[in-house]
Amino acid sequence: MLSQEAPQCDGGQEENDQEENERRNFVESFQQCCPPGGESSVVLYCTSLRGIRKTYEDCRSMQMLFRTLGINIDERDVSMHSGFRTELRQLLGAPVGLPRVFIAGRFIGGAEEVRSMHEQGNLARLLQGMVSRHGSFLACDGCGGMRFVPCRWCRGSCKLFLVGGGGVKKCPHCNENGIVRCPICSSPKAVLVSRFLMFLVALMIVMVFQVTLHINASHRELYPGTLP
Ligand SMILES: [Zn+2]
Ligand SMILES: [Zn+2]
Repeated sequence: MLSQEAPQCDGGQEENDQEENERRNFVESFQQCCPPGGESSVVLYCTSLRGIRKTYEDCRSMQMLFRTLGINIDERDVSMHSGFRTELRQLLGAPVGLPRVFIAGRFIGGAEEVRSMHEQGNLARLLQGMVSRHGSFLACDGCGGMRFVPCRWCRGSCKLFLVGGGGVKKCPHCNENGIVRCPICSSPKAVLVSRFLMFLVALMIVMVFQVTLHINASHRELYPGTLP
């Protein structure tokens, strides 16, 4: 029996290896082109302006698609920060339409390409090993899921008043809209740290609750009838 089962196991392993090789070849068939900080994530260049309806709808549909697949995406909204448009132009070497999707440092394409890949079942192969969303019920503590927060130096005015009536200068910390990228969800390390802190807080609440129960129980034993 054993000798019959062993080759089956090897066969399974070989099949897995072959699948993994095919997957790697498929991934490598896409142009290597990595947005800053996008080595191991999905980066979506999009817009939240409704100026051109199709563009807006395509951007929304990409956000929805990745959300439905449970994948954490790094949204770079060019209408919130013009630096993202420059970044995208530098990456692809020419002005391009939106949305544009990059997965694990490779350029995948626009909405049409991603949608058809999803329909053919190939998108999941590209997304293998990606960080899943930390639960849609847990929006980022820093920005509530907006990805940007008001600049704390100029309070969103983009202007800094120089001391002693020295005039006004443009705030160097924020973008043209007086906002900065959320320090918590724009960095994978910060996401891990914030999750760890949340875990610690939850642990402390449970411990305090247990200690309170214990104290109440001891109190009840020592002085029966004094606590409800
Ligand atoms: Zn955030
Ligand atoms: Zn500012």
